[in-house]
Amino acid sequence: MKNSKIFKKFIEKNNLKNIICENQELKNYTTIKIGGQAKFFITPKSIQQLKLIYKFICKNLILHKILGNGSNLLISDNGFDGIIISLKNLKQKFIIKKKSLEISANIDAKKMQKNCEENGISGLEFLSGIPGTIGGMVRMNAGAFGYSIGDKISEIDILTEKGEIEIIKSENINFDYRRMKIAKNNFIILNTKISITKKSPKEVQKLYEKYFNKRVSKHLLDIKTFGSVFKNGKNYFAGELIEKCGLKGYKIGDAEISNFHANFIVNNDKAASNNVFELIQKMKQEVKKKFSVNLQPEVKFWGKF
Ligand SMILES: Cc1cc2nc3c(=O)[nH]c(=O)nc-3n(C[C@H](O)[C@H](O)[C@H](O)COP(=O)(O)OP(=O)(O)OC[C@H]3O[C@@H](n4cnc5c(N)ncnc54)[C@H](O)[C@@H]3O)c2cc1C
Repeated sequence: MKNSKIFKKFIEKNNLKNIICENQELKNYTTIKIGGQAKFFITPKSIQQLKLIYKFICKNLILHKILGNGSNLLISDNGFDGIIISLKNLKQKFIIKKKSLEISANIDAKKMQKNCEENGISGLEFLSGIPGTIGGMVRMNAGAFGYSIGDKISEIDILTEKGEIEIIKSENINFDYRRMKIAKNNFIILNTKISITKKSPKEVQKLYEKYFNKRVSKHLLDIKTFGSVFKNGKNYFAGELIEKCGLKGYKIGDAEISNFHANFIVNNDKAASNNVFELIQKMKQEVKKKFSVNLQPEVKFWGKF
């Protein structure tokens, strides 16, 4: 890793050794259970620590990534030669106001659902069954059934590369299909303000159940996957095109194009990142050949392939 030495010096000087792990195995931080080691893995315990580290990393142009629940990632078996920042050890925030909910980026989908059900908070039920953290969901503008989390957001707090916290109002956020943009390239989402309505806990629970049962891919929740490989287009569903190419069940090594949903790849047990990567190329090539469509990946690739 470039600048590895100055980073180590910075860690020692600021007594940050206890929140940093060198050569951390990453596969268990992803839902597909694939990935080599990260040169450094950081889990700040306070916003102060995060500010200090992030400012340093950005100023010194050190390669880094922000990790959520790892539900949308393919990490190379050769690992990631940079710094991974995880917010999992920061204090969690779930504050209910009259018409809004303030929620920290490190709360995961299951905890959010539980809290919403218990407190009768309605508005996010369409996310039922989608794994992730709030930070990852906002960054990816996660959604289903024609709704996306971006539709519900009134503002987000971000950490800038200068180590400052800024509030970004929804009118300054461009939410698009499975992505969001603001006027900055480097930032960490810290908190999100979401518009909600109040209902009874039972009603909210029923809505979560309804959306969960509606999910065609609900049987895929217990398997090792990162969800959809490709984004859908304006006039096509990626899964339909892949299926029409006869690729369901196609395998490379221990990686397989799901028999249940052709836009999903499953790690049957010991799949290597290259097995998955080659399958993705195969899907792309066959769809291009048959339909002249250039599929665009939804999954993020970390490391070298
Ligand atoms: C079984 C299954 C089903 C799925 N179904 C759906 C679905 O129906 N709809 C859908 O939209 N997605 C779906 N997904 C994909 C995935 O759940 C979403 O993309 C989710 O939003 C990823 O959140 P995460 O926390 O896991 O992010 P990660 O995978 O960890 O990261 C995704 C991206 O977000 C960035 N990121 C994460 N946290 C932050 C932060 N705090 N600040 C800035 N950037 C951040 C990462 O750097 C990365 O670029 C599915 C995945 C699986 C495994």
